[in-house]
Amino acid sequence: MNAHAPRIEPPRLGEPYLLTPGPLTTSYAVKEAMLKDWGSWDGDFRAMTQDMRIRLLNLLGDGSDDFDCVPIQGSGTFSVEAMLASFIPRDGKALVLANGAYGMRAAQTMEYLGRDFRLLDKGDYLPPRGHEVAMILAEDPDITHVVAIHCETSSGILNPVEEISEAVYTAGRKLLIDSMSAFGAIPLDVSKIRYEALVSSANKCIEGVPGFGFVLARKSELEAAKGNSHSMSLDIHAQWAHMNKTGQWRFTPPTHVIAAFLEALRAHEAEGGVAGRGKRYMRNRDVMVSGMRELGFDTLLENRWLSPIIVTFFCPSDPNFVFDHFYELMKDKGFIIYPGKLTVVDSFRVGCIGQMDEHVMRQVVIAARESLREMGVTSATPPAAALQERAKLAS
Ligand SMILES: *Cc1c(COP(=O)(O)O)cnc(C)c1O
Repeated sequence: MNAHAPRIEPPRLGEPYLLTPGPLTTSYAVKEAMLKDWGSWDGDFRAMTQDMRIRLLNLLGDGSDDFDCVPIQGSGTFSVEAMLASFIPRDGKALVLANGAYGMRAAQTMEYLGRDFRLLDKGDYLPPRGHEVAMILAEDPDITHVVAIHCETSSGILNPVEEISEAVYTAGRKLLIDSMSAFGAIPLDVSKIRYEALVSSANKCIEGVPGFGFVLARKSELEAAKGNSHSMSLDIHAQWAHMNKTGQWRFTPPTHVIAAFLEALRAHEAEGGVAGRGKRYMRNRDVMVSGMRELGFDTLLENRWLSPIIVTFFCPSDPNFVFDHFYELMKDKGFIIYPGKLTVVDSFRVGCIGQMDEHVMRQVVIAARESLREMGVTSATPPAAALQERAKLAS
């Protein structure tokens, strides 16, 4: 890890670690940054907004000059909706690539917007592949945009956005990426992978608190977005134009959240940026996954598809294992885990992001071992049906 990386401190108020994909455990410095009040019109706050936008753009690597950053109030979903409504023209058509809840939510958003779309639904976790995208685009010339989820947080799969981007631009279409749970920890360099816009939010890999999202988009797309949005408050073109003209947000900004986010961005930089953050999360995942496997737990995904963001485990087949009980026992030991979202077999999820390092992840494994013992579970092995389900990935 970077020699200058700030030490990870345990939560000072004794609250449990959030092993969840945002909100997540933040540093004390991030929380402390919220103690001051800011006037939204004041020059100091305008400078903070500008500093934040530049710092976010810098995370795109070489070529970021062609992009601009537009923050949007609300949770991440508000920014996804803003992106879809602002960049896909009313007479456009999207291909939505889904393999979990967030892909399905993007499709549902298109339905609300009343805009034409086609859905490639790969089920709970199978990755949408480049050749599938190429085939659909070849047979459907009306499709103008492809919408992809970078890390599908509902299973934790890291989708192959590079090959998807290749397929999209070979066919002369445009790519929009929901990189909500990956941005800041997994590179999405504009010099290496092409896309028109990505969206993420304050409370994921940058390790801020919830309250706003942001869109990083090509200036050419921002220019062209005028008049596309169905919504006044979610109009990215309008927010962008106003912010560039006045330095201000159009409506009340979450001032404290932004102050906290700036602190989080400074810590992100001190940790070595995207590479440093990604390295810590990968180590978190590797330590946690190998410890859990030693206890007999099995992951939904093979190593190749495991993201360093969140990992899905099958629930053990042992009849003494009851998820709600396991959850409470883990919470008693200082760890909040996350229920699974699979439809076919029972599962739960453990996040690797937030103010945690490998030492914390070792404690997580110990807590899991103790919890199993307290429940009288002798083996954490999943049922045969779970392993059959996983075999689909190999085929
Ligand atoms: C967190 C997340 C979102 C946004 O969820 P909110 O609850 O609205 O913040 C969207 N897409 C993905 C992939 C996410 O992980």
